[in-house]
Amino acid sequence: MASDGIVYLDHNATTPLSPRALAAMMPFLSGGFANPSSPSPEGEDSRRAVSESREKMAAFLGCRPPEIVFTGGGTEGNVTAILSALALSGDRREILSTPVEHPSVMQLLDRLGRQGYRVRFFPVDGDGCVDSRDLSGMAGSDTALIVMMWANNETGVLFPVEEAAAVGRSVGARVHSDAVAAAGKVPIDLATVGVDTLSLSGHKIYGPKGTGALFVRKGTPFEPLFPGSQERKRRSGTENVPGIAGMGEAAEESRSFLSSGSVRETGTLRDRLERSVLELFPGAFLNGKNSDGSRVPHVTNIGFSGMSGEKLLHRLVSAGIRASTGSACSTGSMEPSHVLLSMGLSREEALSSLRFSLGRQTTPGQIARTIDALVRAGRDLGLVAEGAAPGKGGAR
Ligand code: PMP
Repeated sequence: MASDGIVYLDHNATTPLSPRALAAMMPFLSGGFANPSSPSPEGEDSRRAVSESREKMAAFLGCRPPEIVFTGGGTEGNVTAILSALALSGDRREILSTPVEHPSVMQLLDRLGRQGYRVRFFPVDGDGCVDSRDLSGMAGSDTALIVMMWANNETGVLFPVEEAAAVGRSVGARVHSDAVAAAGKVPIDLATVGVDTLSLSGHKIYGPKGTGALFVRKGTPFEPLFPGSQERKRRSGTENVPGIAGMGEAAEESRSFLSSGSVRETGTLRDRLERSVLELFPGAFLNGKNSDGSRVPHVTNIGFSGMSGEKLLHRLVSAGIRASTGSACSTGSMEPSHVLLSMGLSREEALSSLRFSLGRQTTPGQIARTIDALVRAGRDLGLVAEGAAPGKGGAR
């Protein structure tokens, strides 16, 4: 795939496969094909790869290896966790969640609502946040499950998952968190945050697509979506050995990245891009809270008042810049983002918004190029004054 000269700022849609993850996969793509259940020396090699990956994943999340179930991605982890909790919740019929979850959760909740569950949402404010003080008032003896994402994939806003877990415990409800948009961007320590289940996706942490992990806390009753023997009877199907090996390596690499401090550099670049746009585009506004500790450091979601985000994005694409009008899963539908609408934006404001998600390889030069391309597009579309230029007004 030709990617020379492309500035890729769409890491929340997917990340490139890291060379280390690819190297970990190669032995199982080119020769090492044995089924991990096979009682042969070759089977032992595959088994060891799966087991080592489980250890890396557990170290990444601060849990124990047997608490990791390998899945086919974030979607499967979310669906499995939610359906398992409900299958084992007795007479309880209520599900509490946020209105800004990923479609893999929203659409399942919608279906469960039609099947008779009472689905209620914690309110989100204009910054896309849930106030932890609202949590306990809504949960009660009928609550079967609380579903709260760790970070929002469109705005990067972080949620009070620890508080939700405490509330869930206090009323005897299960708590699931979708950590797909948070993993590798902020530390996740399941020794201190008491959720029962948590999902993540390999292709958002520089691992392969079609891979994921579901954390299931020790002692949590569990009903598999795919009954059978693999993964301690929690997810049957022959293990995706190369995928699992690649994701484990990607998790290990993400752990080093998080502890190296480089994540701060990504935040600095994100802030530079954001400040420049807000300064240069009259009426531009930030979607999502901008204060320390309230967002993951690599995402910014900006509304360009009076402009179609789609149009602006086309200009950027022509200039070699890749970003997104919303979550990748809804691209093409031209429907405004349910996340932004839930935050109180009008349809037009939501459709004027673009998401930029930076990655480990994003450079200061690429951010400067993005700002230049945006300003040029803004001038062409009559949104930015002729004299405006990056750097004027100290935007850098
Ligand atoms: N949750 C969130 C927050 C996501 O961003 C995504 C991916 N767009 C998913 C779940 C689904 O993950 P996967 O693509 O691995 O099924």
